[in-house]
Amino acid sequence: MKQVFRVPAIFCIFILLAGCATTQQDTITQYSFIDAILAGAYDGQEKCSKILEHGDMGIGTFDGLDGEMVVLDRQIYQVKYDGSVVTPGPEETTPFACVAEFLPDKAVNIIPGTDLKGLMHVTDLAVPNQNIFLAVKATGTFSMMLTRSVPEQTKPYPPLVEVTKNQSQFHMKNVKGTVVGFRTPPYAKGIGVPGYHLHFLSDDKTQGGHILGLTFEQGAVEIDLCNRFVLINPKDESGLKDMDFSKDRTHELEQAEKKHE
Ligand SMILES: [Zn+2]
Repeated sequence: MKQVFRVPAIFCIFILLAGCATTQQDTITQYSFIDAILAGAYDGQEKCSKILEHGDMGIGTFDGLDGEMVVLDRQIYQVKYDGSVVTPGPEETTPFACVAEFLPDKAVNIIPGTDLKGLMHVTDLAVPNQNIFLAVKATGTFSMMLTRSVPEQTKPYPPLVEVTKNQSQFHMKNVKGTVVGFRTPPYAKGIGVPGYHLHFLSDDKTQGGHILGLTFEQGAVEIDLCNRFVLINPKDESGLKDMDFSKDRTHELEQAEKKHE
């Protein structure tokens, strides 16, 4: 009898290990790093179809900084400068994207009236340890949602702080949708946006962008604690060539990623 039970047990362990290996749980995969984008490294380095192998949710941008990327339910959406939302073809490329296979560890209801700072606070209370990477997904109805997108750039590429001076902003009211993004620990400064970097997509897939502000009418946030971070840089030797990443770009980051009129 013993022999009969032993074989299935070993088989089950094998299946479990195989499952972990393919789904990449608790792993954030990022193409390029935020300082490269701040410096103007906007050339696409990977096909959009490829990044979906590493995650079903996430954020990013497109070749030439052509709008804001939202990855939701393993579908990529492109929020263009004019505010329209399209689904890019599989051959489209990205210079910066950050994705994860979302499997929430925690969920917290959001009190009506909670703003962007409040959402960050609620998430921080759920996971106070700032040294852990988080993938975050919040769904709900928003009495206010403020997002932005950026215009496609031509070479020579200007730094992001110059581009965002001409960003378009989208003021939405009473919109249903999903917030997706990440919390990056302070020690990963230069790689990601320390703190929260969040994008939005409406349920009807017609509005979205990089979030500058919001107010919840009702909703909830789900949190996935991630203990692995994979950084993929251009393999081509010309990628990032002659770019100086020794300087601190904290001020530029504040201007480019968080500022709105
Ligand atoms: Zn963004």
